[in-house]
Amino acid sequence: MLLESAMSTSRLLGTQDALSWALELGDVTSALLPEGSFLQPIWDYLYCNHHGLMSSPLFPVALSVSTYFFLVGLYTGLDLLAPTWPCISRYKLHPHQSVTVADIRATLGWLWRPSPPLPRDAPTLWEFLLGIAGCTVVFDFQYYLWHLLHHRVPWLYRTFHAVHHQYSQPFSLVTQYLSGWELFSVGFWATVDPVLLRCHCLTTWGFMVFNIYVSTEDHCGYDFPWAMHRLVPFGLWGGAPKHDTHHQRPGTNFAPFFSHWDWLGGTNTAAATALSGNNTAAATAAAEDVKGRKD
Ligand SMILES: [Zn+2]
Ligand SMILES: [Zn+2]
Repeated sequence: MLLESAMSTSRLLGTQDALSWALELGDVTSALLPEGSFLQPIWDYLYCNHHGLMSSPLFPVALSVSTYFFLVGLYTGLDLLAPTWPCISRYKLHPHQSVTVADIRATLGWLWRPSPPLPRDAPTLWEFLLGIAGCTVVFDFQYYLWHLLHHRVPWLYRTFHAVHHQYSQPFSLVTQYLSGWELFSVGFWATVDPVLLRCHCLTTWGFMVFNIYVSTEDHCGYDFPWAMHRLVPFGLWGGAPKHDTHHQRPGTNFAPFFSHWDWLGGTNTAAATALSGNNTAAATAAAEDVKGRKD
């Protein structure tokens, strides 16, 4: 007990020491670098002239990639000049070893030609269709669980999924109107599922295109005669009407494509067509439901 008390006192003293040291350091740095004196004009220029570009979620990616290739370009130039320019080679860690054009080609080629190489044989039509169907079934289950969890836990809903529910009557662009975490989750499953099912790369690409096609169809706001839910029998494919209904009544229809998990989980509800005569009431109910989850 005494030992514990002594330890906690020493920890407290340690924390206080650290805090006072940090405060002193803050005083010194603010004396040396007065706030807003140096970076503010640069930030003002960027804010006023490139606001749209910098606000894009793709900007950090573009910045990282362009910085990488700029620096790599500089070093590669030095590598090519070093064998004939002693003023460069004298700084090399391995002055007697030069980077060859073949080395550059091989390491650059990796960016779009990863190993293993593309298989020479195509999958059979059966393997192709079965692979896409298998990936779609697995993805549907993964997203059903993710979606259910992110509606049932208020913090998860508010933080990650509410942004997608800003529209109770979605249109195609709402498909990818998602938080970063949701985008990462769906992208991760779409990438990993074909690997788990050992699909041919042609099947993998087929699944990716099909996944985007049916996800976009889910949000497109149309009920065309060729829609997936009209092609798949027994109401097994919920498709656009059921996902549209989910946007109107967010407590139901969590599966993105098929209906079976909502049937089994008791979360199935009639498609939007049955609610279309009462759209105003449905929208009001949705708004109340969303508000309830935000509270
Ligand atoms: Zn949606
Ligand atoms: Zn939802």
